[in-house]
Amino acid sequence: MPVLETTLGPRTAGELGFILPHEHVFVDLRTPDQPGYAEAETDAVMRAMVPRIEEIRAQGVTALIECTTGGVGRRADIDLAVSEATGFPIVVPTGNYREPWIPDWVREASQAELEAWMTRELEVRLDEAPFKAGWIKLSAGDDGITDLETTILRAAARAAKGCNATIGSHTIRGRVVMDQLAIIEAEGHDPARFISIHTQAEPDFEMHRAVAARGAWIEYDNAGWVPDGAFTDTVMRALDAGLESRMLLSHDAGWYDAAKPEGGEQKPYTVLAASILPALRDRGVGEETIRLLTHTNPFNAFAR
Ligand SMILES: [Zn+2]
Repeated sequence: MPVLETTLGPRTAGELGFILPHEHVFVDLRTPDQPGYAEAETDAVMRAMVPRIEEIRAQGVTALIECTTGGVGRRADIDLAVSEATGFPIVVPTGNYREPWIPDWVREASQAELEAWMTRELEVRLDEAPFKAGWIKLSAGDDGITDLETTILRAAARAAKGCNATIGSHTIRGRVVMDQLAIIEAEGHDPARFISIHTQAEPDFEMHRAVAARGAWIEYDNAGWVPDGAFTDTVMRALDAGLESRMLLSHDAGWYDAAKPEGGEQKPYTVLAASILPALRDRGVGEETIRLLTHTNPFNAFAR
């Protein structure tokens, strides 16, 4: 039976409802070579983030996907502490972000070593945490994938194929997504196990259609960053184009920012449930489609 691998162990579809497929609990966008990178007091993170989780739990959200990967402040121990304090499952990735957020050990590792590392995190445990990585999060350069990013993607495709895991990538241009899908296919993995993160950043809607037609997930993850009307317009356009079964919706919000004093200001994960879903219902979207967008799709995208 397919499960989401979470901080609190595996969860089946029947154990979950509304799932947010792209949020952050903890981030550090300084590069890994900077002093203080990814450092914070766990208690300070809990004070900032536990209320954010309680807020969405009260709205009926049952799990979220942490999109902070290697190189941008991944802290499995902090994700676990927040999860345990709230009893709320979080899905944490293996993998690494794009250049220049690549630590020396990843830069110097062979493709086979990177594949073995990601496989271990997916199948055994993530870092020393008592849970498995749920998926692989990567990124590619805005103008095209670099040689180093290609090595990481090839390793990820092989690891993901072995565990039937999903790869999600922060990729701004649709044509770069298509290049990534070609690499994944060349390594024998399935484009249906790829998420084009930040699809909304690609202005050409025909590219959204093309990525979905290739079998990949398209993700509109800027709820709360743009006016609700603009977000719902984007969703309605994709629904009208028949893309409902390949679409993911989220906020890309949160987070405790290790680079800022006291973790900076947090942005809530509440907009979808509070105002976007009601707006979609007002525009004629039925409950079956709402369920698809908030539960079935995010579960299927990440479950393995
Ligand atoms: Zn993000």
